[in-house]
Amino acid sequence: MSLVQKLIRPEVLAQVKYYVADSRDMVKLDAMENPYVLPEALRTALGAHLSEVALNRYPVPNYLDLKQKIRREFGVPHGFDVLLGNGSDELISMLTVACAKPGATVLAPVPTFVMYAVSAQLAGLDFIGVPLRSDFNLNMPVMLEAIRQHRPALVFLANPNNPTGSWYQESDLLQIIAAMSEIGFVVVDEAYQPFAPGSMMASLPDHANLIVMRTVSKLGWAGLRLGYMSASDAILAEIEKVRPPYNINVLTAATAEFLLDHMQVFEEQARQIRAQRDLVCAQLEQLPSVQVFPSQANFVLIRVTNSEQIFNKLLEHKILVKNVGKMHSLLSDCLRVTVSTPEENQLFLSAFKDALT
Ligand code: PMP
Repeated sequence: MSLVQKLIRPEVLAQVKYYVADSRDMVKLDAMENPYVLPEALRTALGAHLSEVALNRYPVPNYLDLKQKIRREFGVPHGFDVLLGNGSDELISMLTVACAKPGATVLAPVPTFVMYAVSAQLAGLDFIGVPLRSDFNLNMPVMLEAIRQHRPALVFLANPNNPTGSWYQESDLLQIIAAMSEIGFVVVDEAYQPFAPGSMMASLPDHANLIVMRTVSKLGWAGLRLGYMSASDAILAEIEKVRPPYNINVLTAATAEFLLDHMQVFEEQARQIRAQRDLVCAQLEQLPSVQVFPSQANFVLIRVTNSEQIFNKLLEHKILVKNVGKMHSLLSDCLRVTVSTPEENQLFLSAFKDALT
């Protein structure tokens, strides 16, 4: 047995590395990014702003200014604080590490964002995936029974869900939060909130076991790597101890502080993406042998007759989408396509029509 095999934990050896496709020269519709770059005037002003940043100094460890602007711009309820992560990926990791008692479990409806299972397993927790219904809505009786049976420390609910785009009813979320009240925390992951019809953020004061998590990635700042979550002070105080010191670097903090004063630019981009999503869905629905699942996010999940074949044909047209057909049995022959600019969406639609024939 090699030293590596001997030393590295079996949970790590068993993991497959997070796969990111090569997207050079591609129309990139695989990762739910905002397609718009910053307007020229903002870029120039941001450059000047960043030139003042002291790169020789560590970040201010409590990030007071940044947190205050996040609370102001993203509707965090009065009296509630936020905790920052290097992307919400890092927040998911902090939560699982903090709850990794022997025998503790993490539960989520599946298919969903893979990092809930990956982080749980890396932290040494068992992950329980509860299948969604075939229309990708929550299967409430099965969810509630699984909660009773497994008593998970954490339930993750991505709303809208990735990769399905589905939007869970608030009444279902409230039932899960109530069922978990004496058992564990419910993390409502609102990564796609800029494109969604609602949020649980304002409900935080009503539920002691609720955590609302968000990211700025889908808003247009994926490269910054900044996520935030809010919950009661009692919860945040403990998770804060797991946060690596200085996890948000000075350039990210300064950029986010600057951009948070220009939210109307990004709100307008999100509005355009929502309108494009509805147009793309309407056009896809016209096509024979394509099933389009309703989406409240900035991507659309579709089922075709052979997802691998269509994926490869799209690649020939230099269009990169995500083939999720093998991720979960409920997703067989499904492709996930990011909604982009009108031009890129048309490129996709015409290549897709071509691939279908
Ligand atoms: N939550 C969900 C539901 C996601 O889909 C993603 C990214 N695809 C994330 C969290 C992670 O976002 P980030 O690390 O970029 O903040």
